Amino acid sequence: MAGSDKMGKTENGIKEEPKSKQNVLQSTQTVIHQALGKLGYSDEMFELMKEPLRMMTVRIPVRMDDGSNKIFTGYRAQHNDAVGPTKGGVRFHPNVSETEVKALSIWMSLKAGIVDLPYGGGKGGIVCDPREMSFPEVERLSRGYVRAISQIVGPTKDIPAPDVFTNSQIMAWMMDEYSRMREFDSPGFITGKPLVLGGSHGRESATAKGVTICIREAAKKKGLNVEGARIVIQGFGNAGSFLAKFMFDAGAKVVGISDVYGGLYDPEGLDIDYLLDRRDSFGTVSKLFKDTISNDELLELDCDILVPAAIENQITESNADRIKAGIIVEAANGPTTIEATKMLSDRGVLLVPDVLASAGGVTVSYFEWVQNNQGFYWEEEEVAKKLEKVIVTAFDNVYRVASVRNVDMRLAAYMVGVRKMAEASRFRGWI
Ligand code: GLU
Repeated sequence: MAGSDKMGKTENGIKEEPKSKQNVLQSTQTVIHQALGKLGYSDEMFELMKEPLRMMTVRIPVRMDDGSNKIFTGYRAQHNDAVGPTKGGVRFHPNVSETEVKALSIWMSLKAGIVDLPYGGGKGGIVCDPREMSFPEVERLSRGYVRAISQIVGPTKDIPAPDVFTNSQIMAWMMDEYSRMREFDSPGFITGKPLVLGGSHGRESATAKGVTICIREAAKKKGLNVEGARIVIQGFGNAGSFLAKFMFDAGAKVVGISDVYGGLYDPEGLDIDYLLDRRDSFGTVSKLFKDTISNDELLELDCDILVPAAIENQITESNADRIKAGIIVEAANGPTTIEATKMLSDRGVLLVPDVLASAGGVTVSYFEWVQNNQGFYWEEEEVAKKLEKVIVTAFDNVYRVASVRNVDMRLAAYMVGVRKMAEASRFRGWI
């Protein structure tokens, strides 16, 4: 179930990384190795790309509201900056770990390559539970994190953004802290900001927009009409909730949604507007209902399109053969293991991988950064038009590589994603 992947504690109380986190990194490395091999690159190139170039661990002291001091652990990983500055979100979650942040930074490199942005991948995280912290505590933690990582980030070095349980308010605090430290206004330090602080139109819904475009393109390939199609969405956070709304408005039947506590199911289609109205800022809504199903049951519901939009390792070899959807579009990072990817692809399921499907967020983040750098801002339609073009092109590229090279969509996406980074690393003379 989403969020149940708790870390074990050893005898001395130090948190031990669960095996699933190690698997996420190892699986990514395996597919990168395959992708580089298919493109004809040497093992040296793989050695360069299998881990981030830079990984910073910080300890952040925060004064809590009750007067006590708590020390939080945070990370920032910079996977590869051959193409340009690194870019990627900051996640606030109790299960954040070094290995997870590393894997997430590699995925950001792949996303940037797939949608052809002038970036490499980065990612950050803080081990904390913002659901149990006050607003001022979250603000102090956010500012402390920026001070702690300030040496390695910046508008031309590494540009953070929102991720799980972080939002535009947190980006605003972080931007303010960075600007104060540098003594000049630095909107290009971070993306996902509120509009009044240099945010971009369309950034908040961008991940869901990208997923929506991928669903439409995948449905075309399968001869499925999105209008009337039955769709199940796991997760009701930023990506999941906007997506449910877009699908509902497009006439699809959203038959199932879930949050970390459980799922809601209605074969006639759920009333998404009502659920959005009742959802809290962390995406919780199922607690308000008596009749819920588990997240495991949700994934196996009878539907046409399944969208995992929560966390890693949800579709594995233990449930892949019970998944009924013919199209899976991964809005979350790493929801399907490689074993499950193979089982699903062998069965003819069209799986649009995370590194392609969830790239809408970083694409509009790039637009935001461009607008910040030029000091001239675009209208909503312009952002939407540009995003549409980028995602359709990326989808077509990946789909073509999958068909021509006879590989699954994940391997095809990795091949498209690593190519530019490998070329840039070669031209720089690193390999
Ligand atoms: N956290 C988002 C992702 O995983 C967005 C990153 C960004 O906008 O830089 O793609």
